[in-house]
Amino acid sequence: MIDLHAHTSCSDGSLSPGELVAEAEALGLSAIGVCDHDTMVGVPLAWARRSNHLQVVSGIEISVEFRPGTFHLLGYHFDPRHPRFLDFVRQLQQWRMDRNALMLERLQACGVAVTEDELRELAGDGQVGRPHMARLMVVRGMVESVAEAFQRYLRKGGPCYVSKRRLQARAAIDLIHSAGGAAVVAHPVQLKLSHEALAAQVEAWQRLGLDGMEAWHSDHTPEMAAGYAALAKRLGLCVTAGSDYHGTVKPKVQLGMFPGEPPEDAAVLEPLLAAAERWR
Ligand code: AMP
Ligand code: ZN
Ligand code: FE
Ligand code: FE
Repeated sequence: MIDLHAHTSCSDGSLSPGELVAEAEALGLSAIGVCDHDTMVGVPLAWARRSNHLQVVSGIEISVEFRPGTFHLLGYHFDPRHPRFLDFVRQLQQWRMDRNALMLERLQACGVAVTEDELRELAGDGQVGRPHMARLMVVRGMVESVAEAFQRYLRKGGPCYVSKRRLQARAAIDLIHSAGGAAVVAHPVQLKLSHEALAAQVEAWQRLGLDGMEAWHSDHTPEMAAGYAALAKRLGLCVTAGSDYHGTVKPKVQLGMFPGEPPEDAAVLEPLLAAAERWR
């Protein structure tokens, strides 16, 4: 069993990279993808802890400009120390910090006094995002739950929400390729496209170099997963399987948990790694 989409405490997951590796080994997984939002600092930390039984594939999840839904692009099997990629990730971090500062101003205006330093402390080595703002509000007793913090203040369209600057699809795909990685569209259900529109859109991204599609994901039904896999196969794209594990942050999602029956491990991993290697 493999799971190519897991988050760590380097972004908004609850387990450290080392703990994630231990959890994957305890479950008997043969490979995991360490895919944090906008950062790959967890990858070398996970590599340092892996054993012979578990392959740890480098990963990242990048938010890309898109309407009507959410476009997250996964990068796989790249060099996490590639200088151009590192520069780019620093740029993403800066965009995030700019956005956090604006959100803190809005929270202040709503009577929610939380500071940059408090968020920094809560996030530890990880990058600060909305989940940390929500958790701090819970700790302070300003709201009952993370869900309430999002509902009242932080959700997209909420009074304190500020959107992050995002890359365009072409730039995000090129960057992953330049670091020798494969580019895969994450959880296609979140794009919020009809089946026909999705097929046309994915073909357009394929012309920009898209390598694969995450057909199996915890947000998909078994029917959706089969439909996405069929589309990927028709277009000649790689198919991947990822739970989008976040630990206790998303308690319903378990590592290695998929809708229906995912394909054989080798049918996923080998073509994906080969696709990445074509960009070397
Ligand atoms: P950010 O990258 O800072 O915009 O934060 C996005 C993260 O916030 C997502 O990856 C989720 O973990 C979390 N999130 C988004 N919406 C909600 C929600 N309604 N309830 C709880 N967590 C959420
Ligand atoms: Zn996340
Ligand atoms: Fe995502
Ligand atoms: Fe994710």
